[in-house]
Amino acid sequence: VVEHGVPDRTVLTTCAYCGVGCSFKAELKGDQVIRMTPHKDGKANHGHSCVKGRFAWGYATHKDRITSPMIRDKITDPWREVSWQEAVDFAATKLKATQEKYGRKSIGAISSSRCTIEEVWAVVKMVRTAFGNNNIDTCARVCHSPTGYGLNQTFGTSAGTQDFDSVEEADVVLIIGANPTDAHPVFASQMKRRLREGAKLIIVDPRAIDLVKTPHISAAHHLPLQPGTNVAMVNAFAHVAAMENLLDEAFIKERCDLPSFKEWLDFVKGEENSPEEVSKSTGVPAEDIRAAARLYATGGNAAIYYGLGVTEHSQGSTMVMGMANLAMATGNIGRRGVGVNPLRGQNNVQGSCDMGSFPHEFSAYRSVKDDAARALFSKAWGREQDAEPGYRIPNMFDEAIAGSYKGLYVQGEDIAQSDPNTLHVEAALRAMDCIIVQDLFLNETARFAHVFFPGTSFLEKDGCFINAERRINRVRPALRTQTGIQEWEATQMLCNALGYAEMNYESSAEIMDEIAELTPTFAHVSHKMLDERGSVQWPCNDDAPDGTPIMHVDGFVRGKGLFVVTEYVPTTEKTNRKFPLILTTGRILSQYNVGAQTRRTHNSDWHAEDVLEIHPSDAQARGVQDGHWVSIRSRKGEITLKALVSDRMAPGVVYTTFHHPETGANVVTTENSDWATSCPEYKVTAVEVAPANHK
Ligand code: SF4
Repeated sequence: VVEHGVPDRTVLTTCAYCGVGCSFKAELKGDQVIRMTPHKDGKANHGHSCVKGRFAWGYATHKDRITSPMIRDKITDPWREVSWQEAVDFAATKLKATQEKYGRKSIGAISSSRCTIEEVWAVVKMVRTAFGNNNIDTCARVCHSPTGYGLNQTFGTSAGTQDFDSVEEADVVLIIGANPTDAHPVFASQMKRRLREGAKLIIVDPRAIDLVKTPHISAAHHLPLQPGTNVAMVNAFAHVAAMENLLDEAFIKERCDLPSFKEWLDFVKGEENSPEEVSKSTGVPAEDIRAAARLYATGGNAAIYYGLGVTEHSQGSTMVMGMANLAMATGNIGRRGVGVNPLRGQNNVQGSCDMGSFPHEFSAYRSVKDDAARALFSKAWGREQDAEPGYRIPNMFDEAIAGSYKGLYVQGEDIAQSDPNTLHVEAALRAMDCIIVQDLFLNETARFAHVFFPGTSFLEKDGCFINAERRINRVRPALRTQTGIQEWEATQMLCNALGYAEMNYESSAEIMDEIAELTPTFAHVSHKMLDERGSVQWPCNDDAPDGTPIMHVDGFVRGKGLFVVTEYVPTTEKTNRKFPLILTTGRILSQYNVGAQTRRTHNSDWHAEDVLEIHPSDAQARGVQDGHWVSIRSRKGEITLKALVSDRMAPGVVYTTFHHPETGANVVTTENSDWATSCPEYKVTAVEVAPANHK
């Protein structure tokens, strides 16, 4: 890749990293990308980009790319390069043998938010036809599945309520468990512009993220709560609003389910939700909680933005519903400048979930138990659809160790690095008879695989990503595929080899047409329409032919907004004398998730290793020195990192990132998970830290 010269053509496409979904022009000279230029008409980025998107695409042509399919009989054997057909036949034979021996439900797949919606759709369809079960799950399981559950329960659909531009009319911005300047930089800039214009900022986060104090912006309130106490905090906000008559009675009466509101109101008024009581669990002074709650309820348009610091908890779903309750009760929903807005980690988390890649849902969040939905898909796909939900990812691991789950197709996710309790995941992977990994690189999971399907980078893909504001963005091929075929074609070949010949798409545009036909919220969407008009936000159908920037304007998708009682239940992960600190995790600006892509770019020059942030008082008590190695021990395992002594963390809380496999942060995380969705509780692990020798 050269980074200079005059391009001879440009291709308009979409960044493959975070959920902002910035539009870029890939500038090409011959068959080389020479530059990525943010598109000034990009509706999510308006000509802006961040350091990840602009400079981190070198991985697409990195020498580590695997470009030929590979197979091996045993995971201790060396890989053998073969043709696509041989790899597909090998995989199909193994999967069929597994099902014959262990039953129809002994195999399944995990789809990826790094792939296009068309690629995800093909995998979902393969599982529900050729595999003949619902054992399909998505990597959103370990990030935003509580968003899906919580917003569906309260509002009636599993998606954020606003477009990004809506923040320009927010008077109060409430950020909970998110670090937009590092994880969603382009949207963070838009938010900062609004804050500089005078909008007030409240931050609920155990760590002093950059936005707490950044040039010309100073948060009105930073509530550095103890990890795991979000639900107590949101209930206290609601308590203050209810007790001080700050609720929007007219909105509640007109738009919400009144019996559920009355039950919720009785609950939030309870003394256990008062700032004084909540101060005991959160560690935040009652007067700070009360002042922040008053500002949210009385400051004009109040918008909530949240991230994985909300969802990756044992009460992740409860917290999402708690925020929805608060927004409805104060009338902060259904217009610009307000809402409940998940900041999605990966580029296509929203799209992957929209495509029905959860084991209990078809596309558009229709339950597999819904007779009409099942009949629709049974007829369209020519296979009777199963009413029994399939396994979630953690169930797949547990069943593998129990001996009944034996085959897995993993599309673009590195579960051996990204999922919690690594030793448990590795034991599950070792127990399986057939693992097919589809990825750009030989990732950590590939160590346990029998078949490797090389994937395509975003510069080779043809399809769509859907960003955090439900925007369907086109991804167009700028380079020819290094693997010879698109990823959906590999899935289709496997599907055919397993006996389902009815999957016979000729293009990804044809897959999009099928998505539109079977998914009411996408009814008007096609590649042709997106190419002619640019991106749109779903729902885009007869009711909303131009798409839908703001949801729930005249009524909630479910009819009346539903209040849910959100009782705070402390996590079972407790500190004690042996493990007195809480470890929480996050991300850094220059790296993206497990780093498989960004580590293969110049971004690693800025962030070559993960470190442990520790408060000076905790460091001093343990003889830990800045820049020296420390061991971090939990009930699950031990890792070694360099210490960064910093007062960004409150005493008693330590913090790290997980961008480098050698860090192995998930060796220490636990199997605790959200009660409703099994999303892992990455954000709360009891640990002890001690000086260590150099690794
Ligand atoms: Fe935009 Fe996110 Fe890509 Fe940065 S990483 S360019 S904010 S989509």
